Amino acid sequence: MNRLKAILSRIDRKGYGAYKDLQGSYDFGQFTLFVDKVQRDPFAPPSLVRVRTKENRFAPELFRNPVRRTAFEDFLNRAVEQAVRRTVRGNRGSGKSGRVEIQRTSQVVLPRSSIVVESGYVEARMAVGLPARGRTVDARAARAMLLDELPEVVQTALTPAGVDEGAAREHVETVEDASHLRNRLPELGLVAFVADGAILPRESGASDRPLGKGAVPFESPEEFRVAVELPNRGEISGMGIPEGVTLIAGGGFHGKSTLLSALAWSVYDHVPGDGRELVVTREDAVKIRAEDGRSVAGVDISSFIRDLPGGQSTADFSTPNASGSTSQAANIAEALEIGTSLLLVDEDTSATNFMIRDERMRELVQLEPISPFIDAVRPLHRDLGVSTIVVVGGVGDYLDVADRVILLENYRPCDATRRAREVRERYPSRTSHEEGEVRPPMNRRVRAASIDLSRGRKEVARGKGLATVELGRERVDLTYLEQLAEPGQTEAIGRIIGEFAAGGRSRAVAEVVDSAVRSIEKNGLDSLGNFRGHPGELSLPRPQEIAGAINRIRSLQATT
Ligand code: ADP
Ligand code: MG
Repeated sequence: MNRLKAILSRIDRKGYGAYKDLQGSYDFGQFTLFVDKVQRDPFAPPSLVRVRTKENRFAPELFRNPVRRTAFEDFLNRAVEQAVRRTVRGNRGSGKSGRVEIQRTSQVVLPRSSIVVESGYVEARMAVGLPARGRTVDARAARAMLLDELPEVVQTALTPAGVDEGAAREHVETVEDASHLRNRLPELGLVAFVADGAILPRESGASDRPLGKGAVPFESPEEFRVAVELPNRGEISGMGIPEGVTLIAGGGFHGKSTLLSALAWSVYDHVPGDGRELVVTREDAVKIRAEDGRSVAGVDISSFIRDLPGGQSTADFSTPNASGSTSQAANIAEALEIGTSLLLVDEDTSATNFMIRDERMRELVQLEPISPFIDAVRPLHRDLGVSTIVVVGGVGDYLDVADRVILLENYRPCDATRRAREVRERYPSRTSHEEGEVRPPMNRRVRAASIDLSRGRKEVARGKGLATVELGRERVDLTYLEQLAEPGQTEAIGRIIGEFAAGGRSRAVAEVVDSAVRSIEKNGLDSLGNFRGHPGELSLPRPQEIAGAINRIRSLQATT
């Protein structure tokens, strides 16, 4: 600490570059400060630091297994965010002067690189904007930041004295319950579970926080109600959605998309207070949508589309500009390739001609390459074991292929399976559905050499915000990967792809993803990091999103 003071006094008012002298570690008594990387100037990305406490006096049950540990680390990340908001003054001069940041969390709980809980210490990885006046060192402000504010943050967010242990326990137990529930879905024959009392609607289209006023709590129809015993909360009840084909029907604005979207997000655990704490979906579930304009590299979409104009093969389909239906077909084929047990499809974001073709169109249009999704949902389940939950408002034909129908009225679900059967008998569909033949998942190899990381003299493979990965000069657009939760995941994906590209070897997409996931399991998320000591801001992505990003690289080539 005294050494830090001395250095600061020495470099006061010198050029900003003098801050480089801070690199190193400092003993603060209760904790150690590591200055891993010093920014070049006040406007550059902030400096990277770590604080590591000398002991971990938190109750060991808060982190006694991997699920609890991840939840507790998530809790501490949020505690630091809060402590920073309360104690750090923020702006202290030019550029990023005075800022203290830790990874920004979302509503979901993920393994992140921001906090490390070990039995002997707790460590937080942060970024600080070392304060400047113009382009010179402002030592007084730096002293206030590093010697007053930072220790205060450590004290209030990283020691039992400052942290609300009851809240920590609730956080950890909630996540453990959700994770337990999700793991039990297969043995219960379910693909998803929505607890009674869950709050599904969100504040707005732009916010993932729960709707405050006027939210109607979820209440399971009697017919689908399942009781489950959880390790912490004991017995709870809710709607179990069995394997097979499930329709979510209902009038416009009655809450269909809200339910489906809650299911899509519930591949992740949610924080207490989110409303979806006890909503869980199979962890490999994939939301499928139309995404016209995306590129496709060597994908077998022949289960859905055959004989394109010009004789282009659909067993090995590539395009820089997919249509609504070909993009949706590619999204499904790619989901099957990486592995999924549940597809989530919303009519709102689907290509109509992909979903259905009615009798008149079958009559009028003879040259139709598309065999609609409706003909594939049953074979998908029967032959490949892949269930589907599909939201329909307008296309009654889906009643013919559904195992069950959940009808939403005023946000309240009821079991309309029997009524749907009666309707079908009274109004038989005039389209004869020949069940399609669904091809087994493909296993493409892609060329690492088709990804060019170079930009000028630099190699670049990184995330930019939530929805962009930068690979050299290419910006991969992930806007429509609807289950990507945090920028930290995007960053991790960028680095995984970077390693694949740098390796130079053609490999199967599934193998690239598998080996990345296994290596993270073994060596930790930090192993994706760039810097000595400080790994940067990383969150664990799912295999589905890693593959999703690879598949959207415009320069990507499949080998044949
Ligand atoms: P649909 O897909 O059936 O047209 P949405 O799911 O888009 O309907 O929901 C319509 C509106 O109702 C949205 O603004 C949504 O936030 C709101 N909503 C959905 N579920 C609930 C609920 N349980 N309680 C209150 N509002 C809800
Ligand atoms: Mg909708």
